[in-house]
Amino acid sequence: MTEKKIALVTGANKGIGKEIARQLAEAGYRVLVGSRDLGRGQQAAAELNEAAGGGPDLRAIQLDVTDPKSVQAAADTIANNHGRLDVLINNAAILPAEDSAVSEIDPDVLRTAFETNVVGLVAVTQALLPLLRKAERARVVNLSTSLASFTLVGDPSSRMSTRRTFAYNATKAAVNMATVMLANELRGTGIVVNAADPGNCATDMGGWEAARTPAQGAAVAVRLATLDADGPTGQVHAEEGQLPW
Ligand code: NAP
Repeated sequence: MTEKKIALVTGANKGIGKEIARQLAEAGYRVLVGSRDLGRGQQAAAELNEAAGGGPDLRAIQLDVTDPKSVQAAADTIANNHGRLDVLINNAAILPAEDSAVSEIDPDVLRTAFETNVVGLVAVTQALLPLLRKAERARVVNLSTSLASFTLVGDPSSRMSTRRTFAYNATKAAVNMATVMLANELRGTGIVVNAADPGNCATDMGGWEAARTPAQGAAVAVRLATLDADGPTGQVHAEEGQLPW
């Protein structure tokens, strides 16, 4: 029997992250359900294991992406238990309730969003990179959004141009840059790095009236996490294909 691949999903206790965890487990991965509150992560992992009837293999791991000690502890646990990481899904993020237009945003709201969505994502990636390097063909997927596309937001006829969520859009544009620059750094190592736009999905963040299900959104990230060796790197993809920068 071949050994299971190991995947870590940050912010997997609910929403799209939980669905990504479910789909990766269904595809045969041992999935570490990252959650800043260990109890909520354990509950999500138990629900998913039970719903799947015992086959899939999900385990909770405490991980607050803004807490360096938590990030290091998670990396140490994965190193001790598995010795490598095959898939890292940087899903955890916030869309602050106080997000606003550039002319109005409270700088503290902007700082908080960058701390989670960008600094946290980079810190997690740096901590796990040694373990990703130990895997045969590791995949990193960062959750992004069409609201981070300069082409779409810059087009006055696009509905993306009407949103006043500067903190969210700017942090995800930085996530796109982290994606393309890390892909460049790792070219030739076998590790590929891409970003996934799940589309507007019904979650706490996306709003419960959104047309897409978390399962539909998760599928985009799962596709990028399970790419063939000749798949793309340094790109952002939505369900319909590559998004413009
Ligand atoms: P969600 O339901 O709000 O879930 C966000 C997850 O991130 C939760 O598990 C949350 O944990 C976690 N999180 C927040 N701060 C964290 C921290 N400091 N450390 C660890 N975990 C943290 O959001 P979602 O809709 O599933 O979104 C998932 C991803 O898809 C995000 O990156 C989002 O930007 C992206 N996305 C979503 C949509 C959409 O329409 N839903 C569209 C485009 C992109 P708690 O439960 O503890 O708060």
